[in-house]
Amino acid sequence: MAAATILAAVINLYLEVIRWLELKRNHMRTFLVFLLFLFPLAAEVEKTLSIIKPDAVKAHHIGDILSIYEKNGLEIVHLRMVHLSPKESAAFYEVHKDKGFYQELVDFMASGPSVAVVLKGENAIAKTRELMGAKDKPGSIRALYGTSVGENAVHGSDSKENAVNEILFFFPAT
Ligand code: ADP
Ligand code: MG
Repeated sequence: MAAATILAAVINLYLEVIRWLELKRNHMRTFLVFLLFLFPLAAEVEKTLSIIKPDAVKAHHIGDILSIYEKNGLEIVHLRMVHLSPKESAAFYEVHKDKGFYQELVDFMASGPSVAVVLKGENAIAKTRELMGAKDKPGSIRALYGTSVGENAVHGSDSKENAVNEILFFFPAT
């Protein structure tokens, strides 16, 4: 009789443990589904500044480059063609004033009209940098339309803070 009671208690305990584990598993599943639904909300909508530089404007690639941005889910919310003066060019690239290529960069950016655009979309800052690519990244804007380290077709803000400041530089009214 005692043996039967002990056996029943052990079986009961076993079933309790199984039930508890099931419950945990169900909770885990609910939690994962919840995370899955939250995921799209985590991709933040941002704005960034891109410049189609004078080399790409001269080579008639404005449309090609804007098209790459649009096809990749970036919305053009502001756009302006602007021929930077040497002073404006120097101010925009002031962070690089101690670099050896600074004067060359300033002269290049003032050498002809550029097109400044504000792009909006999920993770727009990183997405734009990704699409711009390094010179040797096949398919990237710089690989397609850049011609050298300096004349590399496009600029893109590299941080949230720079995006805000650079957008204000070209679109002070926004
Ligand atoms: P990125 O535009 O990829 O952020 P950097 O911030 O390092 O690159 O440089 C700013 C710009 O300066 C580049 O896009 C390019 O036009 C120019 N530049 C960078 N390195 C050189 C170089 N070695 N010689 C000439 N121009 C350069
Ligand atoms: Mg940079």
